[in-house]
Amino acid sequence: MADGKSESYPDSDLYRIRHSTAHVMAQAVTEMFDPDEAKVAIGPPIAEGFYYDFDLPRTLTPEDLESIEKRMREILAENFEFKREVLSADEARELFADQPYKIELIDGLDAGGLDEYGEPIDEKPEISIYTQDTFTDLCRGPHVANTGKVNPDAIKLLNVAGAYWRGDETRPMLQRIYGTAWESADDLEQYLWKLEEAKKRDHRRVGKDLDLYSVNEAVGPGLILWHPKGGMVRKLAEDFCRDEHEKGGYDFVYSPHIGKASLWETSGHLDWYQEAMYSPLDIEGQQYYLKPMNCPFHVQIFNTRTRSYRDLPLRFAEWGTVYRYERSGVLHGLLRVRGFTQDDAHLFCRPDQMPEEIDRVLNFSLNILRAFGFENFQAYLSTRNPEKAAGDPEDWEAPTEALRQSLEREGVPYVVDEGEAVFYGPKIDIKVSDALGREWQLSTIQFDFILPERFNLAYVGEDGEEHRPYMIHRALLGSMERFMGVLIEHHAGAFPVWLAPVQAVLIPIADRHAEYAREVAATMKEAGVRVDVDDRGERMNAKIRDAQMQKVPYMLVIGDREIEAGAVSVRLRSEEDLGSMQIDPLIERIQEEIIARS
Ligand SMILES: [Zn+2]
Ligand SMILES: [Zn+2]
Repeated sequence: MADGKSESYPDSDLYRIRHSTAHVMAQAVTEMFDPDEAKVAIGPPIAEGFYYDFDLPRTLTPEDLESIEKRMREILAENFEFKREVLSADEARELFADQPYKIELIDGLDAGGLDEYGEPIDEKPEISIYTQDTFTDLCRGPHVANTGKVNPDAIKLLNVAGAYWRGDETRPMLQRIYGTAWESADDLEQYLWKLEEAKKRDHRRVGKDLDLYSVNEAVGPGLILWHPKGGMVRKLAEDFCRDEHEKGGYDFVYSPHIGKASLWETSGHLDWYQEAMYSPLDIEGQQYYLKPMNCPFHVQIFNTRTRSYRDLPLRFAEWGTVYRYERSGVLHGLLRVRGFTQDDAHLFCRPDQMPEEIDRVLNFSLNILRAFGFENFQAYLSTRNPEKAAGDPEDWEAPTEALRQSLEREGVPYVVDEGEAVFYGPKIDIKVSDALGREWQLSTIQFDFILPERFNLAYVGEDGEEHRPYMIHRALLGSMERFMGVLIEHHAGAFPVWLAPVQAVLIPIADRHAEYAREVAATMKEAGVRVDVDDRGERMNAKIRDAQMQKVPYMLVIGDREIEAGAVSVRLRSEEDLGSMQIDPLIERIQEEIIARS
């Protein structure tokens, strides 16, 4: 690791604390029922807490959670030791004879290849159990030494949700209790605050409140309808990016939504990506597929003519809408969808141009993310997996090194994910931290050694011979849908002035002020400011409150005094009162904010 980050999460105290709390919770839950009624499934630690899945005779209520939590504190106070024991598979089967889910897990462990959570692993693990007080669980550990090591003031059960056994819709639906555990009560409090804040910022809620987008059952799940206001934010974001791409030496291309089966055979998508692709369409006896990616089309454009070394680099950019299958259970607002638009581009360059090309694209990417208000980046460099990698190891060296050096030069903190690259080439992923410190993966810069081979890409070099160009896929905001979701949550819907769908609302106090309000609105519109006039018969305070709810940056109140002075009374959504302002200086102020993208 290059940034000197500390130990990994699974090695941390917090991980042990959470895992141990999950066991204590399972004890408290099973005690509520007859021994043969409560079936336990799995209970792993997760990013900021833990869960445990149960098959119970009745649905748990919020009151149950309270009493479970109370019982957990009693168990913790007893300072029970977590005792580990290693068993044979048969001993384990006997011990968990009444627990069908555990039996299934033991069979998996015994067969090898699966861990006790049913996740794939390489080696065949030892079967071990942990016991505290009366509760024994099939478990690899690690745990804290005893229940006293868990701070009873730093645990909290959060909610119950349905979860299919092994995530499989054909298996039983279980009850999953989510909880969290921290080292101190302060940490817990901070986390709960963040959860509350995240709920308020949830893009699905904000998207509805601000009338930005919807998902409609009549249209289909995972398919987004952008409403005028959300559409405006997206248009502004795209316009800005398109301008930057043009300045950055990109060419714009457009490609269709479907392509022949043979194209996806050549590209290899039908071999290794088919599970994410939709069933084919039949057109005059030929099969066509909806595109899950834009790459084969851009490659075809490259191949329409002989390319000389002088033509390179070529940078083909497209806001390309792609369709990928996601199970309905994992669809989530704008973040997991079935159709989305990538700000996609493919770079084709000569080997001698490659390091500079990487510098350029990384710098370009960071500048665009900064323009949207993101300041903190974390990069992940995925390197060659010797088990499955296209090309020779030497082919990987220069690109991997170019990616690493660019990260160094840009001063982006990065982690090397050793051997984590997909088989077709090394890549960098860039995550941004939002206002709540949550990480979101947005940009990807990905080398590809496969497509140039499969489509026989070539340019004629100075030597008159044919050479293979480097091909790099890159998406900066990633998917526009997902990016908008992140943007909404980062700003809590209070978009910066340059992105606000409505930048100012004029609020006439009485009907007689409406005409002047419309005049001011016309002047501002002419100056390029997006304004609305709220001439409803509501009271002024109600109009201000509504504009505030809509997160409109400027609220401009107009009464007799303002008309007399040729001014407006200016309030900001931050509730700051700027008092009376003349129209021209106000327009200038807003224009400056738009230019500064503040
Ligand atoms: Zn465990
Ligand atoms: Zn691509």
